[in-house]
Amino acid sequence: FTMKKIALLGATGSIGTSTVEVVKAYPELFQIVSLTFHSNVEKGVALIEQLRPRYVGVGSEKLRVELTHRFPDIEFGVGEVGLIKAAILEEIDVVLTAVTGSIGLQPTMAAIKAGKDIALANKETLVMAGKWVMKAARENNVTILPVDSEHSAIFQCLNGQKSDNLKELVITASGGSFRDLTRDELKSVTLEQALKHPNWSMGKKITIDSSTMMNKGLEVIEAHWLFGTDYDKIKVVLHKESIVHSMVVLKDGAYLAQLGPSDMREPIQYALTYPNRLPIKNELPFDLTQIGQLNFAPMDFERFPMLKLAFTVGKKGGAYPTVYNAANEIAATSFIDGKISYLQIEQLVQRAVEHYNETTEVTLEEVIEIDKQTRTIVERWIKEEGQL
Ligand code: NDP
Ligand code: MG
Repeated sequence: FTMKKIALLGATGSIGTSTVEVVKAYPELFQIVSLTFHSNVEKGVALIEQLRPRYVGVGSEKLRVELTHRFPDIEFGVGEVGLIKAAILEEIDVVLTAVTGSIGLQPTMAAIKAGKDIALANKETLVMAGKWVMKAARENNVTILPVDSEHSAIFQCLNGQKSDNLKELVITASGGSFRDLTRDELKSVTLEQALKHPNWSMGKKITIDSSTMMNKGLEVIEAHWLFGTDYDKIKVVLHKESIVHSMVVLKDGAYLAQLGPSDMREPIQYALTYPNRLPIKNELPFDLTQIGQLNFAPMDFERFPMLKLAFTVGKKGGAYPTVYNAANEIAATSFIDGKISYLQIEQLVQRAVEHYNETTEVTLEEVIEIDKQTRTIVERWIKEEGQL
């Protein structure tokens, strides 16, 4: 096991924080050479002081000037250029993509072209442009290791399996904050309620996405690209304990599952040590005899229309998943900012997908353009309509 040099994009976030814990547990094995954050200066500065990276990407020119003055030995960059530079530094071995949203696409593509392995948390990138990301990875002989817990579970279960042994993937879903509410009860839910995830502590956007089941929809599309699996062979089951992180079913009917505590350090560390394993420092308690029972139930597509829509846009292909993701990024953020009501998230995503009525194949440049257009359109709808 040789020392890994890491670029950590989105270091101040939830995944970023867990990654720093993993790195600090094994200072002889991991080094963060570059990191990025957007605007959280307090946390960003604390990380710079602890980790002493060579390069730091920040969200604004003002921050760059301020921090260059404060840390003259460190090089700073701004915005997308800064993200890209952080990802492609000569000495980097692996880029951990923990930014939220499609801002992750360009640095991920640049890293792949520079031959860096990717530890991928930023699922929106794969939903938006999975075809091109996976193609670039093949062409540049780059490994994409999943950080998302479900995909890490599937990846672990598929280890050593011939691809034609696979019958289907079974992704588990906790059900999110509003699992037990009816659609009628959803009309009046608040941001505060939506941000209370039963099992996982995560960034705001993904917590909202979990409650709308958008997150599971994004994960279905992510799995399609990561494992090259047809949508007909991807199933989702409700599993409220989040203990079984996901499963694979083989041709002969054997189910393989990966189980563990709700601790993102596990999939993060595995992505950084693969194919080796290391103990997790300060492991969370995990005792199946205490848990006692695991429950599984079918997913209700009427209750969770965003999950149903994921299969529709996934099968349609082209830029449909791009539109689905972009509309949600704007809608979820607008809900977090108090601009729209909870159920408007679904309505806006549905409307954007219906509005995009193209069946033609698209290029990567067109996908990037459609992502931008969708954001503009959804933002306009929100301005025009206000609270529905
Ligand atoms: P957070 O919101 O906690 O963190 C996001 C990070 O991205 C922060 O470092 C933030 O910087 C930075 N950032 C935000 N906006 C921009 C921007 N415009 N340009 C550059 N950087 C930006 O998110 P999470 O850690 O929860 O999630 C990150 C990714 O990982 C998402 O794609 C999510 O779907 C995925 N993921 C997360 C899981 C989790 O457990 N949290 C589980 C599985 C996947 P700043 O703090 O300065 O704003
Ligand atoms: Mg997940």
